[in-house]
Order: sequence, then structure tokens, then C-alpha cells
Amino acid sequence: MPQRAHLEQTIAAPLEFAGVGLHSGAPVTMRLLPAPAGSGIVFRRTDLDNFEIPAIGRNVARVSYATSLMRQSVLISTTEHLLSALIGMAVDNVIVELDNLELPILDGSALPYVEAFERAGIKTQRRRREYMRILKPVEVREGDKFIGVYPHSDKDEGYSIEYAIDFPVPIGKQYASVDLAAETYGVTIAPARTFGYKADEQKLRNMGLIRGASEENAIVLGDQGPLNGPLRFPDEFVRHKVLDLIGDLALTGRRIEGRVVAERAGHAMHTALVSRLLKDRSAWEMTSVSAEKTHTQSGVKHAGLAAALQGI
Ligand SMILES: [Zn+2]
Repeated sequence: MPQRAHLEQTIAAPLEFAGVGLHSGAPVTMRLLPAPAGSGIVFRRTDLDNFEIPAIGRNVARVSYATSLMRQSVLISTTEHLLSALIGMAVDNVIVELDNLELPILDGSALPYVEAFERAGIKTQRRRREYMRILKPVEVREGDKFIGVYPHSDKDEGYSIEYAIDFPVPIGKQYASVDLAAETYGVTIAPARTFGYKADEQKLRNMGLIRGASEENAIVLGDQGPLNGPLRFPDEFVRHKVLDLIGDLALTGRRIEGRVVAERAGHAMHTALVSRLLKDRSAWEMTSVSAEKTHTQSGVKHAGLAAALQGI
């Protein structure tokens, strides 16, 4: 999906999703509504007097199996797949209404969101998108887990991710390198589903951590491979980690201009990087890309763009 010449975007029509939360098993109906330029992603609990929680780093709550937001003890859980789809498809502004505490897991991937955005259409807004351009390396290391973000060299631009994982059999080592500017998110990353090991299932169920998990919303792994195959990609696992990472780093509140490298990381490491970045104001600057640098493939003619920019 073209990024419409670096202008902000929202969805062209409301969208509705229904399902259960992966962790809570709670039934939930979620509505995505178009939002004005500059408003960002804002969650709204319709079951709690429309209490609002913006999707930004200072609202990140305890993080274990999923990423959650909390403000004044109101929780919104498992935000990462939706936020990933929004960043991946360059949707900047949307209100997310839900009537329970956890987002629906759907099929365990971000594909249902991408398909819905394509159905509804994506609308360009009259405001330049601001990027978080990385100026110096910021790294978080914990044992053999690692995540870092780096500035681009002069000629590079955009948002790229390299991810390496090393899980027990049957996954083993996988590596993925993704350039979000290539606009292939919808086909290369969004379809990758979440996963878990059959051997861990009973323990996690007993702990109440996967009340909504089923063979319809997660790849279940036995010793020899997936028990509910086939996989959508041979390296679906590392692609899903990239999907999660994009969703978690969305909590910086801005799209990143830089290169992210992750090794054996997870939600806790991803959100630790968000906190570290937001604290270190010298590590990045806010920037918008000039109209001259936009690509004509966006379908927005330069004359039209110039006219649109006058409205900012
Ligand atoms: Zn995930």
C-alpha cells in the first residue's frame, strides 16, 4: 500500500471485528473509526464510559506474553497485532473502540486487519506524517537477548528490521530482514501467526494465560512440527516476531526512521527499547519528509500534494 507521499492517513470507513482475547478468553467487539489528522491511535473502552488510552509508551503496562496499556488502572491488553497492521499499512490516525479488556486474537495474525483496511479503503489526510528519526544507537541487552535501533547511513531511509530467533525444536534458528518502505507488509509479514508449544499448553492454561487459545488462532507445535499445519511460510515464526516488534515499537507514538536489530527478543525487550528511546531525547529527532523526496508511485501528483500541504 503506497504511503501517499508521507501524508498522514486514516481509514475511509468504520470497521468492526469480533472474537475472543487470546489470554483472557473474553468475548470482545472492536470498532475502528476514522480519526482526524494528528490524533494518533487512541483506544476507547466503551464498557467503561468511553475511557480513552492513547497508544503511547508512557501507558505501557506489565508485559509478559502480550503488550498491554494501562491508564488509571484501566487496562487494554494485547495491542500488538492491530498496532503492527496500522504501522505496516501506514494508517496514522484511528479510534479503537472495544467493549472488553483485550483485543480479539482473530486468526493469530494481522492479516484480517490488513484485509479490512483494503476493504474500507485508506484515506490521505492534509498533514505531513512526522517520523522519529534515529540519530544515535540505543541498545538493550539482557543475557543472550538483544535489541537495538540505529541511524541510517546517509543514502538510506525508511524503517528496516532484522530479527534472529533461536527456539527449541522444531523451530530452531530463523532470521528475517524486512524493509517496511518496500510496502510488502501485507503479504510478507501480516499473515504470520502467533505460535506456542503443545508441551507448554497445560501449564499455560493452568496459569490462566491462554484462555482464548485454540488451533484456529495459533500454530500449535509438537516435536516434529506444527500439529495444525500447514504453515503459511517456512519461516512463519520469525516473521511473526517481526510483526510483534513493529506493533510494540508503534508505542513510541511515531513511525521510526532507522534500522532495528533484534535477537531472541520478545515483548518485554521490545517495550524496554521503547522506554529507553522515549527517555533519551538526544537519540532521535522528529522530522517530516519534504515533498520533493516523495515517490511518484504514491499516485499523488506533486501539484496536488503542494496544494494539500498548504492546508497544514
Ligand atoms: Zn504476536
